[in-house]
Amino acid sequence: MSTDSDDLVRRSLAHVWHPCTQMKDHEWLPLVPVERAEGAWLYGPNGERYLDAVSSWWTNIFGHRHPHIVERLKTQLDTLDHAMLAGFTHPPVVELSERLAAITPGGLSRCMYADNGSSAIEVALKMSHHYWVNSGQPQRTRFIALSGSYHGETMGALAVSSTGLYRDAYKALLMEPIVVQAPDCGVMDPGTRAPGVSWEDHARRTFKEMEAALEAHAHETAAVIVEPMLQCAGGMRMWPPIYLKLLREACDRHGVHLIADEIATGFCRTGKLFACEWADIEPDFLCLSKGLTGGTLPLAVCMTNEQVYRAFYDDYSSGKAFLHSHSYTGNPLTCTAALATLDILEERDWPAHVRKLGQHLWNQVSELTRHPHVADVRQQGFVLAIDLAADGPGRVPYPAGERRGLRVYQHGLSQGALLRPLGNTVYFMPPYCVTEEEIDWMAGVAIEGIQRATAG
Ligand SMILES: *Cc1c(COP(=O)(O)O)cnc(C)c1O
Repeated sequence: MSTDSDDLVRRSLAHVWHPCTQMKDHEWLPLVPVERAEGAWLYGPNGERYLDAVSSWWTNIFGHRHPHIVERLKTQLDTLDHAMLAGFTHPPVVELSERLAAITPGGLSRCMYADNGSSAIEVALKMSHHYWVNSGQPQRTRFIALSGSYHGETMGALAVSSTGLYRDAYKALLMEPIVVQAPDCGVMDPGTRAPGVSWEDHARRTFKEMEAALEAHAHETAAVIVEPMLQCAGGMRMWPPIYLKLLREACDRHGVHLIADEIATGFCRTGKLFACEWADIEPDFLCLSKGLTGGTLPLAVCMTNEQVYRAFYDDYSSGKAFLHSHSYTGNPLTCTAALATLDILEERDWPAHVRKLGQHLWNQVSELTRHPHVADVRQQGFVLAIDLAADGPGRVPYPAGERRGLRVYQHGLSQGALLRPLGNTVYFMPPYCVTEEEIDWMAGVAIEGIQRATAG
């Protein structure tokens, strides 16, 4: 590394508190400087480059600095930077809301904007409860969430997440959701699928727990919240659409809202524009972020239907208004980045392309299903996850403290690939602009990394 990049790293460690990091790790784990990016690649100051195999935390769906997004943003910068949205409106937010209403499932016609995924979840939780307050059922204060779920890290979103890693330290501060066993079709954790049982059978069986929870708690429950088909941060846990279909029916039967957190799954990641489409269902609330701006700017939206909207629509004196705001709500620049992203989405049949890339990736790594230290290889669209285990076939996990996944990360970086495993789960979630050659190369690096990380 040149002195310049050494200097940048030193200054970063002096003042930047990096996210999701034990900062002491950086005494031995080098921080990676990035200077520019293009397409699927990130570039360091000395010509180093890294294939962004995780789309920079799942945001960058079309590659970095996509020319169309860059161009629209530049034009918007010369027109309107920001204006508050209370009492005012502007073309980008209006056009975006119209277009989102047109492409999302069913009658989701109302858009409330936030600037990150967690905040959109806060909106959904508050709006759902407030709907019940306005409808004469204020006792509906609880939420049902799935085990292994992750909905963000602000207090409400964290409360309905059940991944211990992120939640445990703050447990004393959080409301308690009703946690139901997820239909997790992996094979590693207790309650997950037994080998030989089909995904659909496993999902149907697990659904009995959800049905029981709804029966016991519907009267005090505002909503069930799920990440349709793919629980990302919880370890790339996957489940089939049938569960979502059963859940929609059950929520209707019990009169409980359904919140679909498609912050990570939205915009073709699962091989359909939205994961809800696989089950042909419409949630009461749909949360979107991450891919919404093609990975350029922070923007999130919570969408809902006319029925919910109507419960808040009344004379001022009724006190029923939804009083939630963020300073940058509906910022014109971020909305423009989202509009450019929707333009790109219209350019071709991305869902088909994503499924094709996913199939190609599967072919490249399927040999790992026979690896002695691999317990499971699973896939949903263009997300593929591999669980490392001390004894793969016996499903005996590696102790978390051995940090085997981190070794894969380090190997990836040494070869020029950004793979950032979640604990013992190595996964790929690349931008849709990667070529088949890049996929082959990236898969090779990961397989080599897994060999090394599991040897001895
Ligand atoms: C990333 C994520 C969030 C939180 O979004 P942030 O923008 O990081 O706050 C919520 N839900 C899911 C499913 C996510 O993947």
